[in-house]
Amino acid sequence: MSLPASIVALVERQAELAALLEQWCNLNSGSGHAAGLERMRRALREEFARSFPAATIDEPSAEALGFNPTGVKALRVRVRPTAPIQILLSGHYDTVYESGDAFQTCRWIDADTINGPGVADMKGGLVTLLAALQAFEQTPHAERIGWEALITPDEETGSHGSEPLFVEAAARHHFAFIFEPARPTGDAVHSRKGTGNLRVTCHGRAAHAAKVPNDGRNAILALAEYLLAIGRLPGEMPGVLLNVGNIRGGGAATNVVPDFAEAEVDVRITKVADREPLLARLHALAAPINARDGLRLELQGGFNRPPKECLPAEEAIFKEWQRAGADLGVPAFSWVHAGGGSDGNLLTAAGLPNLDGIGPIGDHLHSNREYCRVNTIAPRAQLAALFLHRLASGEIALPARS
Ligand SMILES: [Zn+2]
Repeated sequence: MSLPASIVALVERQAELAALLEQWCNLNSGSGHAAGLERMRRALREEFARSFPAATIDEPSAEALGFNPTGVKALRVRVRPTAPIQILLSGHYDTVYESGDAFQTCRWIDADTINGPGVADMKGGLVTLLAALQAFEQTPHAERIGWEALITPDEETGSHGSEPLFVEAAARHHFAFIFEPARPTGDAVHSRKGTGNLRVTCHGRAAHAAKVPNDGRNAILALAEYLLAIGRLPGEMPGVLLNVGNIRGGGAATNVVPDFAEAEVDVRITKVADREPLLARLHALAAPINARDGLRLELQGGFNRPPKECLPAEEAIFKEWQRAGADLGVPAFSWVHAGGGSDGNLLTAAGLPNLDGIGPIGDHLHSNREYCRVNTIAPRAQLAALFLHRLASGEIALPARS
């Protein structure tokens, strides 16, 4: 098997790619930090503009009132939009670490492992995506593939502003690759849970705590009763996860029966078909509380990312992906179900088959222990570039979109 020279040469770029990752991760780009996001997007734009002089680069708005800072934008890089095969490559440039977080800069754990904000989730993936495209552009049949790199600023907060960009991109591409990190084992992502957020509000009736008989209705107790009941749902409904994330209620005075309490709950489902039965159970458990005099319990919110269920086209592509990995000497890997959502969920919902979790190896995301194995960046970039090269040369074909 002969490999294009630009793909072979990627392994010599490990130190340079690691340095770029360190530089990008030392720029804070928390989802809520407008100035940091701007700086990070400018840094990305410079690299893409330098690497792909023929590309069309624009920065579509990703504003979402109440979710994203005003003026926030995505970066969109397009090459050969009329080529016969159109591939979308996606990544996000926001992180969960805001400008006030103590975790701001990178540190080397050993020569191959960097610890820092966003090293795996997912600036490591952005470096991999960039390097893969740089190598692919120098392969002999590249003109047969047009690609779009869509790099968004709000994945960590639910992609509320970027969702329209994904829907639009899904319509004009044949397949997508999402450079979220690979698992510590090297595995990619087979499917993902759908994610949602519920706000549970309980209104009761205020009264003096010492009134006898007491006609107050304690909103905190009624809400607590409900939360304990829904907390048992995962045991009853396979594939459902539910976490009561916060709770507040009452006032400063403890001699008042509190008339208000509320909580927010993270809910996750494995299949689209889990959604309606779960919502029905959540409402059914609220009914006995609402049937009581003086209490009102309300549910707001819902699912922002539907589950990403594995599509037949993805099964076929993953076999080729594994083969390309084996040909390059990448240690054997499989793919697994993930509890966390990504933009792959949105692309699947929009009908575009995609392969997710193909970035470098990392772990402990969303914590100050987050790390990336930088020696997996070049091999993963090689893998993506080789796959695209095989697709461009006609050695492999994309299955029809189902
Ligand atoms: Zn994340």
